[in-house]
Amino acid sequence: MLKNQTAEIIIIGGGIAGLSAAIYLGRAERNAFVIDAGKSMARWEPDVENYLGFPEGIAGSELLRRGQEQASRYGVGIIRDEIVKAERKQDLFKLRGRTHSYAARRLLLANGIFHRPAEIDGVPECLGHSMFFCKDCDGFRVRGKRIAIYGRGNEAVEYALAMTFYSACVAIVTDGKRPRWDRQHAGWIKKYEIPVYQERIVAVGREGCEVRSLKFPKGLELEVDAVFTTRGDIYFNGLATSLGARVDAEGQVVVDLDMRTTVKGLYAAGCVTPANCQMIIAAGQGATAAQTINHDLFQESLATHSLQRYRGQQLQDLARSGASEDRKKILATNHASALDAPGLQAGSQWPTATKPVKSRKTYGKRREINRSGSSRGQGLQSMDAVRKVSRVHGRRRRSPAIG
Ligand SMILES: Cc1cc2nc3c(=O)[nH]c(=O)nc-3n(C[C@H](O)[C@H](O)[C@H](O)COP(=O)(O)OP(=O)(O)OC[C@H]3O[C@@H](n4cnc5c(N)ncnc54)[C@H](O)[C@@H]3O)c2cc1C
Repeated sequence: MLKNQTAEIIIIGGGIAGLSAAIYLGRAERNAFVIDAGKSMARWEPDVENYLGFPEGIAGSELLRRGQEQASRYGVGIIRDEIVKAERKQDLFKLRGRTHSYAARRLLLANGIFHRPAEIDGVPECLGHSMFFCKDCDGFRVRGKRIAIYGRGNEAVEYALAMTFYSACVAIVTDGKRPRWDRQHAGWIKKYEIPVYQERIVAVGREGCEVRSLKFPKGLELEVDAVFTTRGDIYFNGLATSLGARVDAEGQVVVDLDMRTTVKGLYAAGCVTPANCQMIIAAGQGATAAQTINHDLFQESLATHSLQRYRGQQLQDLARSGASEDRKKILATNHASALDAPGLQAGSQWPTATKPVKSRKTYGKRREINRSGSSRGQGLQSMDAVRKVSRVHGRRRRSPAIG
């Protein structure tokens, strides 16, 4: 086990929600990195048709690749590891991964869920092509086709009814199991004339990734073009519960509208929360969580005066080595004594005649000190597993994740 990798913020999960948060936190100049086990559900989707900005569709794996590139561009490293244990000690979240240990003051859980696939041979090959989990993602692409809904509960019935918007040929298959839907749902099956096949499925007839039929015993065969599974989801909430966060009856991590969990400093985003499990929603939640974390850290830096210390240091550095014009103006403000003080005291006067320090040329030189008053790279161990350098605005900058 290698030593601690520390950061201001750690994001567990480098899927859609985690990468979106990483981009926002990187652009907020935060010291953050992502730890990802590399099993995003998005990689199963060969053609994402419902993500804004891709009218021709985009492969889920390509969306992830672009997200990783974008996060790296803003200096957020991505570490390939799986977190197996999380605990809180004083103000720090301590994480144990399979290869490293980590610590951070803020933790974002973006570790997703697992959709349970149908328990029939041939499913993995067809996933995302003709075997689906989500009517909102894939209903449109199977319109007019022969659709089987795999399941035996109320959800299967509701799925079947909803799929009638896309196709007249919708049936339910229970795979040899007794139906568990309630009387009302049974009534709907009858009313809307949805065929139900209770035979066990012994095999899937398919051509490549395309399902052609479901095979029952005694040579019976149901011709289908698409199968939707409603076996439920497994929420990866173990880390959240071990840290004391509340989960709901289904196992989803409870969050408020700003993605804060019930534990201070712990946030969650994406499918692990009660959100509708869609990529664009996961991305939005990741961005929301990042904005909240940034806001909370900002408020904290005001309360603890770390922003003041940072600003004092920034002005001192500017006076010493800033562009000559800036320097002249600063000196001309007659506040040199305040700037030379080791840290500005509360209530001390700020220079007034200086132009706002906006230009990247000047400001960028000081970016290694972040607003929490700590060096971005401070206390970080180097890691071979992580990209060491990322390109930011045409310059090379060290990733804060790997120091
Ligand atoms: C077959 C299929 C097709 C889909 N098609 C679409 C579609 O067309 N459109 C759409 O909008 N949505 C689609 N979805 C849903 C979409 O994939 C999810 O909404 C989206 O991926 C959720 O993002 P997330 O970040 O919450 O989770 P994920 O993208 O699943 O990312 C979670 C990440 O956390 C990592 N992780 C988990 N536990 C740990 C740990 N302990 N340590 C480190 N890392 C960990 C995982 O390895 C994974 O990389 C589809 C899903 C499937 C399965």
